Amino acid sequence: MPLRHTMVTDTLGRPLRDLRISLTDRCNMRCRYCMPREHFDNHEFLSRNEILSYEELAMVVESLVPLGLEKIRLTGGEPLLRRDVCSFIEMLPKDLDLAMTTNGILLEKFAERLAASGLKRVTVSLDALDIETFQAMGDTSEKPETVLRGIEAARMAGLKVKVNTVIRAGYNEHSVQKIAERFLGTDVVVRYIEFMDVGETNSWNTGEVITGEMMRSMLDDLMPLKENHVGEVANRYQRGGQEIGFIESVSKPFCGDCNRARISADGSLYTCLFANRGNDLKSLLRMDATKEQIACAVRDIWGKRDDAYSQNRGEIVDRKIEMSFIGG
Ligand code: SAM
Ligand code: SF4
Ligand code: SF4
Repeated sequence: MPLRHTMVTDTLGRPLRDLRISLTDRCNMRCRYCMPREHFDNHEFLSRNEILSYEELAMVVESLVPLGLEKIRLTGGEPLLRRDVCSFIEMLPKDLDLAMTTNGILLEKFAERLAASGLKRVTVSLDALDIETFQAMGDTSEKPETVLRGIEAARMAGLKVKVNTVIRAGYNEHSVQKIAERFLGTDVVVRYIEFMDVGETNSWNTGEVITGEMMRSMLDDLMPLKENHVGEVANRYQRGGQEIGFIESVSKPFCGDCNRARISADGSLYTCLFANRGNDLKSLLRMDATKEQIACAVRDIWGKRDDAYSQNRGEIVDRKIEMSFIGG
């Protein structure tokens, strides 16, 4: 029987358009701003039976389509660490906009298969081009060249590519210019991200935030792009024909049109990146709920949503969930 649901909106009139799926809480890097080693090397990661299967995840996706879902982003942790990820992409409805965020270490190996399974876009995180800064920020022995080869392989496979660069004071301010220069003249969109206060372990403080405004002052000849799409997280500019975006969630919060839900690898639905509590969907799935029942549960959760953390930053003091768990 076809699902009879109609589009859902939250208490602030925001639709549910975008679902970010954390495929795993594990990662092959230890970025200091996300999974600092002292907290994560001895961390108890989720076990196989705690995480949602691909069948369960596909069931969630199909249940949300009638509510207005248009876009899926696979993330983590590192999504390319999840076994047989391409078989999951093949299970997803192809009329959805299918994207992935990855650190790019395994991208060269997977690019062609990702494109063949229906992925359209990939966002690759790359904080520096010089090996010292790359390894210091990622707390890794991996090399930036590996990520650059991954980006090239993704482009060759026909995937649209964006590069995400987190700028943290005292670590990689020089990356603003270097990364823009590296991708000038290519179709790769570069986006700079303000260092955010996600989770509890990255010892965030405002002194380490380089704002979008400060980053823009490091780049000459930037021209604002007129059309910003609704729900688009980046403020978009262009420079020499290249698109450059700034994700300014600290200095210019964009909760007003936030249409993103997140599902953690263990099957909790979060209505905000900064939520301290998820909504258990796994129990429902494992009680053999129908798509109708899952859609009703999510409609109920989303209908009560009033999250606007970035706009109220400073007022909320509850414990926050780690970004590697909830999915960036
Ligand atoms: N491992 C994948 C990756 O790094 O692309 C996907 C997951 S990661 C949590 C998603 C994005 O979150 C990355 O672009 C990363 O740079 C960003 N991120 C993580 N911690 C952050 C923080 N404290 N502030 C800003 N961005 C952060
Ligand atoms: Fe891993 Fe991505 Fe977090 Fe870095 S930002 S530790 S690559 S999940
Ligand atoms: Fe959306 Fe929450 Fe981020 Fe605001 S703080 S933009 S509501 S995820």
